[in-house]
Amino acid sequence: MKSFFKHKGIYSFLMALVLFFVTFFSAPVVRLDAATINPDEQINRSEGETVDPVPEETTDDPVDEEPVEETDPLEEIPELVSAKAKTNKITINFRGVTGAEGYAIYRWTDDDDMEIIDELDEDAKSYTDTGLKQLKTYYYSVAAIVYDDEGDAVYGEMDEEGIEATTGFKNIKVLSVEPVRISQKVTWKKNSSAQGYIVYRKAEDAAKYTKLKKIKGAATTSFLDKKVNLGDTFTYKVVAYGEADDGSSKKSGSNEVTGTVELKIKKKKVKDQNSSVYNKTLRLYYFGDGTRIEDPEKYLSDDEKGTYEIYVNKAKGQTVVYSKVGKELIPLKSFICSPGYATPIGTHHTIVKLRWHELMGPCWGQWCTRVVSNGIYFHSIFYNSYNNNKNLAVGAYNRLGTVCSHGCIRLQAYAAKWIFDNCAIGTTVHVVSKTGYEPLARPKVAALPYWHTWDPTDPGAVKYCKEHHCHGQ
Ligand SMILES: [Zn+2]
Repeated sequence: MKSFFKHKGIYSFLMALVLFFVTFFSAPVVRLDAATINPDEQINRSEGETVDPVPEETTDDPVDEEPVEETDPLEEIPELVSAKAKTNKITINFRGVTGAEGYAIYRWTDDDDMEIIDELDEDAKSYTDTGLKQLKTYYYSVAAIVYDDEGDAVYGEMDEEGIEATTGFKNIKVLSVEPVRISQKVTWKKNSSAQGYIVYRKAEDAAKYTKLKKIKGAATTSFLDKKVNLGDTFTYKVVAYGEADDGSSKKSGSNEVTGTVELKIKKKKVKDQNSSVYNKTLRLYYFGDGTRIEDPEKYLSDDEKGTYEIYVNKAKGQTVVYSKVGKELIPLKSFICSPGYATPIGTHHTIVKLRWHELMGPCWGQWCTRVVSNGIYFHSIFYNSYNNNKNLAVGAYNRLGTVCSHGCIRLQAYAAKWIFDNCAIGTTVHVVSKTGYEPLARPKVAALPYWHTWDPTDPGAVKYCKEHHCHGQ
């Protein structure tokens, strides 16, 4: 194309020559046409004092309108039609001018001087400027280009006001939705130009997103959605919000990421011969993030709620309750306990349940479940008076986890109550003394002060803790 323009001098000369001949020979024709088509005009004209051989009135003749080459493209300002911004690009549309051999695109901002950023060929009607900064106002203008005899570009006039457009946000990249126990953690890529982010969520069968959380500041790039339940599937998106150069509010788009809250179940055959459950197959529950569920009872399906089976490990001061499904054991509850040397090793079955019962001493226990016919019970730490849960043997409570009873298996109140409430008469109880693997950790229990003469895990004694503002009450 450029080689053509280099010979423009020759073409200009030829065009001028053609113009001369066209004008010369067309003049008489015009007169003839005028006389033929408009006799009135001819009559009027003949009455005039002077007769112009080429009358002014004939300028609407198409032949005379032809020489558009007379307009100088360098003096014509290309009209700026529109400028449309996206996140990191702006497209401008303009009307070209006749005779232009190309167009120069000018760009400037409030901070940057005007410069030519590109040159287009003579057919161009639009230009897309890419790789722009977000939230920034850009101004554009267009000038015609004509190439001189040397082939150098000569730039025409342009609209110095220009046309403007303001870019938006880049889309937020949502990186992941990952389970954290029974929660979903949404993580996205930081956009330092954001004033903040809005996290949206959509249920599996929902048509629309709902706003979950507005987060102020660009620095936070994750959100923990705790309003989820097991089995829930949600799709998330994260939109950045902020203000552009020109003061307008902008929001970004985002990709979508979907996650389901699930549990993982692993089976484990216990190979530790020193374990209380040696050679048993355990069914262990984990959250989606791989965290072990220590108390999976509420996550069990009806099929998994088998028969309870209790293991009392004297060597560890620990009682573990399992749900037995077929031949597999699901560890459900782990209690700290105080058995006695007299607690008989072996397999037993529960016999009777007694709400308050007199024990050796005399003393009294709550939620007593008899394990062995000669009077071995699961029961609470004992009390020094009957039916009085504010008269606890604090010293006995503080020895939990040690072998210190006369043979009964002492438990915290809530644990004795759980066995009392949940384990039917006839429940199997294995008393063992093993130092090896246990599937659940033994709970830690903080010692009570001497004045705390009630069991903080006793639902009927919570009111006393409330009075004293202790144990989280
Ligand atoms: Zn308390």
